[in-house]
Amino acid sequence: MDAWGLTDLGNVRKQNQDFYDIVTLHPNQLLLVVCDGMGGAKSGNVASRLATEVFVGEVRRTAREDMDVEQIEKMLRDAVSLANQAVFEQSKVSSDFTGMGTTLVAAVLLPDRAIIANVGDSRAYIFDKDGIRFMTVDHSLVELMVRRGEITREQAKTHPSKNLITRAVGTEANVDCDLYNQELHPGDAVLLCSDGLSNEMADQEILFEVVHGVQKEGCCQRLLDIAKGRGAPDNVTVVLATV
Ligand code: CA
Repeated sequence: MDAWGLTDLGNVRKQNQDFYDIVTLHPNQLLLVVCDGMGGAKSGNVASRLATEVFVGEVRRTAREDMDVEQIEKMLRDAVSLANQAVFEQSKVSSDFTGMGTTLVAAVLLPDRAIIANVGDSRAYIFDKDGIRFMTVDHSLVELMVRRGEITREQAKTHPSKNLITRAVGTEANVDCDLYNQELHPGDAVLLCSDGLSNEMADQEILFEVVHGVQKEGCCQRLLDIAKGRGAPDNVTVVLATV
């Protein structure tokens, strides 16, 4: 398994509130995580970094090589809860931190499976023989509006409220994460990203770059370059792994 990641300020923002990590838990067990912080100028980056560190610390502490899918799901759920508690507690420490929170999307990769946890509107995609598969459901206002039939998916992309998320890590005492698991085959890839990428690129464009683009090592940079070429009004973070 190989993995690459990068995060970038984008062209407009003065601060990068995204954070990511890639950790080898065991020789055949890889952890990927992307967090996209929100809050005032002094807090969004605090929330995403703290959530990542607490989440990764807890997964590192509890991951065993022989875990089955159910045990990995429980581990991810517990680690999200712990990260949530840490950010929520920190948000009460100073008025600078009031209301801060973060998205969190994470994947544990095994040679034959990805187990994914998600809170918020960062995303996980899987690339396999059938193309690109958008694995997670955004916890966002526009996603709800699309599901209610109030707007189309096309309208959601440019809706003025497209940045409003309905679930975040750290904004309330408890949070529930969505869990997904998907079988993988040799050559398949998994991509996690913040909305700074997914707002700038269509799924099929991401597919093209990951499957037909330059070598995988250069793929994250190429995706970033495309997002920046289109204005990159937000921070951009992308993590790519292959099995
Ligand atoms: Ca963002």
